[in-house]
Amino acid sequence: MIVIIFGPPGSGKGTQCSLLAQKYNLKHISTGDLLRKEIREETEFGRKVKLFMAEGLLVPDELIIGMLMNDLDLADGHYGGILLDGFPRTIAQADALEKNLERRNKKTSVLIDLRVDNEELVNRLLLRGYEMGRMDDDLETIKKRLMVYGEKTFPVKEYYKNIDRYLPVDGNGEVEDIFKLICLELDKIQKLNT
Ligand code: AMP
Repeated sequence: MIVIIFGPPGSGKGTQCSLLAQKYNLKHISTGDLLRKEIREETEFGRKVKLFMAEGLLVPDELIIGMLMNDLDLADGHYGGILLDGFPRTIAQADALEKNLERRNKKTSVLIDLRVDNEELVNRLLLRGYEMGRMDDDLETIKKRLMVYGEKTFPVKEYYKNIDRYLPVDGNGEVEDIFKLICLELDKIQKLNT
């Protein structure tokens, strides 16, 4: 199974991915977490990406695609599948991903789109900023990230609709209820695969 958990900042991608990775033995790849690790470790790569992240902008495609493909290759065959969190965020990234998978005769199983109301997103992100101190969770940067999402990331939905891999899920409400909704869908996919 290759599953993309998709949605705007604050839609609960990371939370749901942690639960799903455990239940289905999937390798959870979060590009945001990978980037934050590079910054923490003060690598050359970390220095390159830090400003983009702090400003609420996307890291350039060529940097992020290289990083992700490396991880994807490493995970191949070692898990029950892959769970992508925060990737792809542009059409170019979606294209690179599907081309990489195609070379291994694979294709994304499904893109799950967590749909959450805007007001709820901002409230969740402000709370996270307060609790976790993430550098990009202040109101100004949150607004920028939501704008970038609308411009660059939202169109990725169309890409997956066109290849018949798109599935919207209501991401408002309680973590457990949303998790159950996603599990119902993944169970169906697993059945089809066996
Ligand atoms: P996240 O933790 O997924 O919210 O990502 C935090 C930040 O990391 C984003 O606002 C971007 O600056 C950067 N980032 C994460 N994933 C990507 C991606 N696939 N493409 C470009 N930038 C990304």
